[in-house]
Amino acid sequence: MNITHLKLLLIEDDIADADWIEEILTEENIQELELNHVNRLGEALEVLSQKSFDAILLDLSLPDSQGIESLAQVKQKVPQSPIIVLTALNDQATALQLVREGAQDYLVKGRFEGELLLRSICYAIERQRTEVYLRQQALMKTMLDRIRESLNLTDILSKTVDEVRQFLKTDRVLIYRCESGHSGEIIADSIETNNLAQSDTIPDITNIFISESHSPNSSSKAIEDVISDGQLDPYTLAEDKIRSILTLAIWRNPSLDYHLNSFVFGDDHYKSKKQNQNRLWGMLVANHFSTPRKWLDWEIEFLEQLTTQVTIAIQQSELCLQLENAIKQLEKLAILDGLTGIANRRYFEEVLKNEWQRLAREKKYLSLILCDIDYFKLYNDTYGHLDGDICLQKVSKTLQESTRRPADLVARYGGEEFAIILPDTDAHGALFIANKIRQEVEELKLPHSPSPVSDYVTLSVGVVTLIPHRGSNRTTLVKRADDALYEAKQKGRNQVVQG
Ligand code: GH3
Ligand code: MG
Ligand code: MG
Repeated sequence: MNITHLKLLLIEDDIADADWIEEILTEENIQELELNHVNRLGEALEVLSQKSFDAILLDLSLPDSQGIESLAQVKQKVPQSPIIVLTALNDQATALQLVREGAQDYLVKGRFEGELLLRSICYAIERQRTEVYLRQQALMKTMLDRIRESLNLTDILSKTVDEVRQFLKTDRVLIYRCESGHSGEIIADSIETNNLAQSDTIPDITNIFISESHSPNSSSKAIEDVISDGQLDPYTLAEDKIRSILTLAIWRNPSLDYHLNSFVFGDDHYKSKKQNQNRLWGMLVANHFSTPRKWLDWEIEFLEQLTTQVTIAIQQSELCLQLENAIKQLEKLAILDGLTGIANRRYFEEVLKNEWQRLAREKKYLSLILCDIDYFKLYNDTYGHLDGDICLQKVSKTLQESTRRPADLVARYGGEEFAIILPDTDAHGALFIANKIRQEVEELKLPHSPSPVSDYVTLSVGVVTLIPHRGSNRTTLVKRADDALYEAKQKGRNQVVQG
């Protein structure tokens, strides 16, 4: 066996057996052999809290524990360490059962030599490593699949902390989201409730992120500063109730946000923001509070890899959220008129089509108002195009405010012409709205000195009502409203005609 260093814990109450094992192992010429020997299970559990070992040799019959119970306790303490059971001739059956329960091997005392023992230890270590590695890979794959499939960050994170806690067999795994300064909140949390009985309360570990011990010079320092100053080690053993805690920073790079924002809005003001600089998003924390625990190197490595995956999930989900908002913004821009902020002609056509179909099905009234500002060309000629624009904005705002039902739609139909769709509104109701908007625009008292019909800006209004039916076409409705509007103009403007 070509092995250079080995750190073992031998749990054996028989001094002669212990001496013999030490003797045969020493003969194997391992460069660095560290054999720690304890007589009782209680002692072993204490030592295991402070130190980690490559493998554990466990005698089946101890003064304070026997057989399967000993294995269970050691396994609970160090779930990932390989255990080899040492048995007397007469309890081989129990030993075999223990292998089924998770011991890596069993050896009958007095029946083996150094070479066999060493080979058994090496295989046990290798098998255990492979098992852990495979489970680690499987867990990582599950998480990667979930991250690819789901964009629901809360869901991803809460399942992740659950699985990681079970995998590491620890009491608690959580994700802490940092906010500005030194505040933050736990956004995903998994706690082993069975272990709560052994501990009075769940320790408030969020305090330790900013506690004096990690930030000796200034307790009010932001977490981000503390971490970048290197004051908060990724690996921290804390005192008392907190027992063992492992914290890993989750960083994220905001440069993608910048690209997305500038792509959607073509906006310059984002450029002033700091780019390509990682910021502390939060922390992944594993906490063992029921008993002291020493974190193994591979556990730390595993959590580091996991943190990378969590970062991807966060980045992905935040980008999606931004993209959704950007799309909503673009959709809004596509249906609104740039000058007045009310619906544009395209959106008017779409809504009219839908309402026509719906009300044909429901056999209900559909009313349409078309209105046009009187002598607006003269208005522009007199007051200028800019004031003309302002006038259009004020009129459209008045129209918008005169229609109260959620289904009503006010749209800019053309230059100084507006259309109002009034679903489920009969002729009487539509005429009422038409009169109201004519009156309210007049009451705005926007001076229009060149107008032959009034001192103020006025509207001519055409209004029609019908029950749509499948045989007819919605253009007939628009045509009739247009005819009514034309008639209002012909009759002297500043009036309503019902067609
Ligand atoms: P009528 O009473 O017969 O409707 O007369 P009118 O002058 O309002 O009608 P006409 O169709 O002859 O002129 C409409 C004017 O509306 C011409 C155009 O300059 C103006 N207009 C159309 N769109 C805009 C706009 O977006 N801003 C401004 N300021 N003016 C506009
Ligand atoms: Mg006009
Ligand atoms: Mg016009």
